[in-house]
Amino acid sequence: MLYIGRFAPSPTGPLHFGSLLAAVASYCDAQFNQGKWLLRIEDIDKPREMAGAYDTILRQLDAFGFEWDGEIARQSQRNNYYEKALTILQNKQLIYPCTCTRKEIADSSNLIGIDGFVYPKTCLNQAIKENSAFALRICVDDAVIAFQDFIQGQIRQNLQTDVGDFVLKRTDGLFTYQLAVVVDDAAQGVTNVVRGADLLNSTPRQIYLQQFLNLPTPIYAHIPIARNAAGEKLSKQTLANSIDVKKANLQIWQALKFLGQQPPTELQFASLQELWHWAITQWQIDAIPTQVSPFFQQ
Ligand code: GLU
Ligand code: ZN
Repeated sequence: MLYIGRFAPSPTGPLHFGSLLAAVASYCDAQFNQGKWLLRIEDIDKPREMAGAYDTILRQLDAFGFEWDGEIARQSQRNNYYEKALTILQNKQLIYPCTCTRKEIADSSNLIGIDGFVYPKTCLNQAIKENSAFALRICVDDAVIAFQDFIQGQIRQNLQTDVGDFVLKRTDGLFTYQLAVVVDDAAQGVTNVVRGADLLNSTPRQIYLQQFLNLPTPIYAHIPIARNAAGEKLSKQTLANSIDVKKANLQIWQALKFLGQQPPTELQFASLQELWHWAITQWQIDAIPTQVSPFFQQ
């Protein structure tokens, strides 16, 4: 069977060790399975973007020796596809406008889910305030969404109690990650998604959308999250350091180690080509741990 994998960074800053892990894992898994590896830049959230990050990410991937297949996809150019998907859902009566502010939701919700307050469907049954900007939410139901994650095992979520009706188009008119990622994974024929476990909680929402849009569900494999010494997830918010193009070998070696692979020490000093050759031929997705000790030293 044809394997299509992908790496989908958001240009909110340079790649850090956490993003490198997702890149290395998705790349090795695709190459090991003789598949394609696509690059998609998730530049859908303009306000969160950092000037120059797009170029920096490409320069970093190039310096680290990643080779992607085909053209780079950019979400900022794909609005009409998201609009079409939204129309399909609207025709199924699943979408409704919501004018609630964050504060109104915090004050009216009596349920905390995995991502904060569960939206209490306030706007579902009442006309929205006139002339106010609105977001578009999708109705979820009480069914449990279950899937088998390749690394994390069986995952179950009740969208109604764990998440609530979620936003597909924001008040500022931007489509959300959940809708865009589903549309794009399907449009690019992605069969295998290998990404950070911080997105594990989002996956049932994505499967829910796939069901109503008649799109296939890829195989998901969520790799453990890298944390800093304070136990925080590496991210732009926690001021994670950018990966260093001058230390590409060492950092790929460290990423492999983090992912449960056993690269020989001398590979740290080998050429990038030798390092990748080892990483791809010796790749064992089964060796990836579900979590990594907080004491793992980068
Ligand atoms: N763009 C997302 C991020 O940078 C990743 C999305 C995904 O892999 O589904 O965190
Ligand atoms: Zn509302």
